Amino acid sequence: MASIRELHEQLTKKERSAVEITQEALDRIQALEPKLHSFLHVTAQQALEQARAVDAKIAAGEEIGLLAGIPIGIKDNLCTKGIPTTCASRILENFVPPYESTVTQKLLDVGAVTVGKTNLDEFAMGGSTENSAYQVTGNPWDLSRVPGGSSGGSAAAVAAQECVVSIGSDTGGSIRQPASFCGVVGIKPTYGLVSRYGLVAFASSLDQIGPFGRTVEDVAILLNAIAGYDPKDSTSLKVKIPDYAASLRPDFKARGKLRIGIIKETFGEGLDSAVEQAVTKAIDQLQSLGAEIHIISCPNFRYGVPSYYIIAPSEASANLARYDGVKYGYRAPGADNLLSMYNRTRAEGFGPEVKRRIMIGTYALSAGYYDAYYLKAQKVRTLIKQDFERAFKKVDILACPTVPTTAFKAGEKNTDPLSMYLLDLMTIPVNLAGLPGISVPCGFDNNGLPIGLQLIGKVLREDQLLQVAYTYEQSTSWHLRQPQLS
Ligand code: GLN
Repeated sequence: MASIRELHEQLTKKERSAVEITQEALDRIQALEPKLHSFLHVTAQQALEQARAVDAKIAAGEEIGLLAGIPIGIKDNLCTKGIPTTCASRILENFVPPYESTVTQKLLDVGAVTVGKTNLDEFAMGGSTENSAYQVTGNPWDLSRVPGGSSGGSAAAVAAQECVVSIGSDTGGSIRQPASFCGVVGIKPTYGLVSRYGLVAFASSLDQIGPFGRTVEDVAILLNAIAGYDPKDSTSLKVKIPDYAASLRPDFKARGKLRIGIIKETFGEGLDSAVEQAVTKAIDQLQSLGAEIHIISCPNFRYGVPSYYIIAPSEASANLARYDGVKYGYRAPGADNLLSMYNRTRAEGFGPEVKRRIMIGTYALSAGYYDAYYLKAQKVRTLIKQDFERAFKKVDILACPTVPTTAFKAGEKNTDPLSMYLLDLMTIPVNLAGLPGISVPCGFDNNGLPIGLQLIGKVLREDQLLQVAYTYEQSTSWHLRQPQLS
């Protein structure tokens, strides 16, 4: 599929109709899904209707926005009115939301074509999409490997060109990590930039919605459409949103000195040599493009994973209390009293990873342990934030690998949740501090698997972050490679 701008031009010049573009996406979905499994529901009928509405506008001579007629995939933890929203959990198997999330509503308002709901780790808990109760998504570069997670379906669908762009959510890396594994671009915005209204909550102080695309420009265009204040989300920020896409230039020299800090602690033990090489080369490239490179220490970075795995499960245990067989989705049949109905519903409805986190979170929040675990983890979170604040006094952007490895084989880490948790080493601190972070393709390993470079920006400096990512991307050809899927 072409880029958003190319498709927009084809539409406005009437070279192609929105229905034709949508049909191309739907055909590709039909051809690839039997082996890729990135979608939980394909909404072909609705997509074609949306496309027809765009075509009618064009025929009537009305102006259309950049996203009108563009096929988009939506992670299945965003509520979509009248369309099943399962969070890849049995407990929401039959849940059809009576309302629309702010992000999907904004997309519908600009005429985007939503082709379906993408697979994820159950309630976005995981890093491989293998925790889905329904299906295992393949990595388009090697179907025996995982696409990353938890937004694995959204990343794989874009890499395989089943849609042009997609929406994911990122609590500890769930946009950036699968973007890295699938060779696409993914950005987690500043906490509060994008409304979380209608996003099924996992860990509310960390969750953010963000876009995936094959290029930085596509991602910038999509971010523009979904960002902005929303009175329905009390953590949403009242700020002016710049035009991220319009200001992209393949050059940062013209804008004065750009200082990039390399996070020292992310290089070393546990880092794949192919990843280390690719990221080091990318940093050299940034330098040759005119950036000033500094080595920065973030000594508390390594406490990100342990504090996250107290904070996120604690918040999850509270957020997931609402699934009790009364209000939503699944109810275990045949229970003879209320308590046994609750217990059986949750025992049968939740998968093992979700149960593990509810138990950890409930324990960490229980009387007598709150101070020792939750409060302590929140204090560590402050230290991590201060590391970033110190760093951003010296530099404008921070750089490091997105993930220490490339995509692993499906099933490889199933018996060892800890090894899976460690994959988020470099993405989690960014969520804890509420900062924006982007992953851009920066190379391939010997197995032909993509590698991602993570760039981290100052609060609400998505404009600068995208600009630097764009300049880097335009000086390479990594984003032009495509997986060989027939
Ligand atoms: N992999 C991390 C986890 O399992 C992050 C998930 C996410 O960002 N949603 O919690």
